[in-house]
Parts: sequence; structure tokens; C-alpha cells
Amino acid sequence: MVEFGFTPSTTLSNGLGRTGTIHTPHGDIRTPAFIAVGTKATVKAVLPESVSDLGAQAVLANAYHLYLAPGSDLVDEAGGLGAFMNWPGPTFTDSGGFQVMSLGVGFKKVLAMETTRVTSDDVIAEGKERMAHVDDDGVTFRSHLDGSMHRFTPEVSMRVQHELGADIMFAFDELTTLMNTRAYQEESLERTRRWAQRCLAAHASLTRERSHRPYQALFGVIQGAQYEDLRRKASRDLAALDVDGTRFDGFGIGGALEKENLGTIVGWCASELPFDKPRHLLGISEPDDFFAAVEAGADTFDCVNPSRVARNGAIYTADGRFNLQRAENRRAFTPLEDGCDCYTCTHYTRAYVFHLIKAKEMLASTLATIHNERFTVRLVDDIRASMESGTFSDFRGDFLGRFYARRTQA
Ligand SMILES: [Zn+2]
Repeated sequence: MVEFGFTPSTTLSNGLGRTGTIHTPHGDIRTPAFIAVGTKATVKAVLPESVSDLGAQAVLANAYHLYLAPGSDLVDEAGGLGAFMNWPGPTFTDSGGFQVMSLGVGFKKVLAMETTRVTSDDVIAEGKERMAHVDDDGVTFRSHLDGSMHRFTPEVSMRVQHELGADIMFAFDELTTLMNTRAYQEESLERTRRWAQRCLAAHASLTRERSHRPYQALFGVIQGAQYEDLRRKASRDLAALDVDGTRFDGFGIGGALEKENLGTIVGWCASELPFDKPRHLLGISEPDDFFAAVEAGADTFDCVNPSRVARNGAIYTADGRFNLQRAENRRAFTPLEDGCDCYTCTHYTRAYVFHLIKAKEMLASTLATIHNERFTVRLVDDIRASMESGTFSDFRGDFLGRFYARRTQA
């Protein structure tokens, strides 16, 4: 049986950013790597074969969504997430913590949260019903689908994620916001540490119980918001956790991050974490974030933006993002991006995809998503190559200079 592991390769001069390979029972992931988001066991609008053809190495699904529908027991019966969705490569599931505490309460589903309308220490936004209640044992929440009440604890999250069967899972953690008080952040961090310990214990027992399944790796999730001492402490604490010989296989960096501090915060965590274990940054959004995260030591990250904005006709190119729905594209018999090697750009024109969007045809989302996902995969491939050839800084300057040269029109 293939065990889980990570082999670092080239390291940047700051000692944090690196290239490497994550080994999983469903194949290797060359890092840094962009992990395509397949929330409900599908990368929206595209076939798994297309996701693979455009170079994506792994897919991340959401434990919360799959727990509610179709049910993690059903996915288990199907042979696990990969078998269920016909994705033979590596898979990730998040713990469900972010969703149970954020869905329906007015947070944007990205780390850079909208904080202006949120009152401190309360996971609720103005005008929204409180959907989640956190206590020391777990979280009680209301389904965003039918309003039914549910409860997630570390043990429930581990059971759900083992049933989903992804190669990489995340420990159940508490989501805080930048608006929470320092005292609350400390209290929450201690709760997340105790939950991490319970996750390791539940994980060890489920791994024994389910020895007929391939090994599933568990990542601890580091919180601590914008506080350097809390982030560093959380990193040291989770790296040191050992429950009867079971330790975390890697680490997730989660929670509230202000975009301008993203690299700094990832760097605090990375400098405290063991070098030989992989680090995943949960949920980032734009190309400049990729460079900041990778430089600071993130090996993988998931990002929903390329597919989400594609469905609204926003197209990424080396010259920035443009809105395909603008009238000038109606007769543009050129690819979405000149020189792009994706399936969409090598077979279709802007004029055709423009027509599909206007006609509200489903194929519009498919073709636009394929391009944006390919753009993102290629960018991260290029970042990895630049690290290996010692030209990371030059590449970043050139790429971002061109990408942000003009205001995005989308
Ligand atoms: Zn393309």
C-alpha cells in the first residue's frame, strides 16, 4: 500500500517557499499546486476528463455539502469520492468547519472576509438569522438546504471525511473573523487545539477500523487570525500534537486573512512548521495571492474563483481579466486568449462563447471554465518552473506587472 508522504525539492532563498512532491495512494502532486474546487463532487460545468486534460492534479470537495447531500455513507458505499465522481487522481475534503459556521450568515466564501457588517464575537451578519452555534464540544447548525438542525463535532467530521474517502482531510476547526476580539481568538484557538487532538484520536481509530481502504492523510488547521503570536503558537502546538503515535501528516492554514497580510501570515506559520510536511492554504482568490502564498511556503491551495467567475463570463488572460459579455466580443473571431493551449481556445472563438452566454446556453460555462482553470494551472506550473530555475522573483515581476497593467474590466 502506498503511504502518504512529501518530498521537498528546490527551496527559495527565504528558506520557506519550496517545490516538492506530495505522494498519495491516488498519485503524486507536484507542488506548488493549485487544487481545483469540486464542492459537491464535481468541478462545476466540466467533465472530470477535461479537468484532468487541462492539467489539474487534484480536486477538493466539501465535507459539509456532501454530508447533507447525498450523504457521506452513500459516497462510502460508492467506493469513496474519487470512485463516485470518476476522478482517479488525488482528492481533498475540507472538514466542514468553514461551511457550518459561514454558510447563510453573510460571510463571503473567501478568506478576505467582509467585516463591516459583522458584530464581534458572533458568527452572524446583520439581517441574517443565526445559523450556527459554537460550544466547546462542537457546532450545531441549520442546513442551508432545508433548515434542518445538525451537529458537527471533531468525531463527526472525521467519520464523515473517512466515509468520503479523500486522500487528504482536514481537522475540524473553528472559524473566527477579523472582528472577533483578541480574547475570543485566544479562546477559540485553544478550542481548535483540543478539537485537533480529538480529530487525531478519532482518525487513528477510523484508520484501524477501515484498513480495507487506502490510507487517508489528516492535516491540522492553523487559525489565529492576524496575530503573529497566536499563529506561531498554533503552528507549534499542532506540529507537536501526538496522540498515541498519530500525528498530523500536513497542515492547513485557514481562517481570516487580510489580503495584504497573506504572505506574512503564511510565513509565520511555515517558519514554525516541520519542513518535511506539506502545507495547504485554504481558499485564496487571485493570481497575486498565489505568488505571495507560494513564496511564504504554501505547497498547495484551493481557489474557487477561476470557475466561479467563468460562469459570469469573466476570463483570465496574461493581460488581466476581461468581461466576455462586452459588445466588442460579438464579432471577435479570435480565441479567448491568444496563444492559450486550452481546449476552448484551440477550438472556439470569443464570438461563439459570447453567443452562448447571451443565449444562456450551458456550454458557455463549460468552455469558459476550461479556459480559466487551464490559465490557473498553467500559471502555477510556471511558478513552479521559475522556482526550479531560480527565476521566481523575475517571473513574479513580469507576470504581475503585465496582469495588473490595466484595470480589469470584469
Ligand atoms: Zn484558453
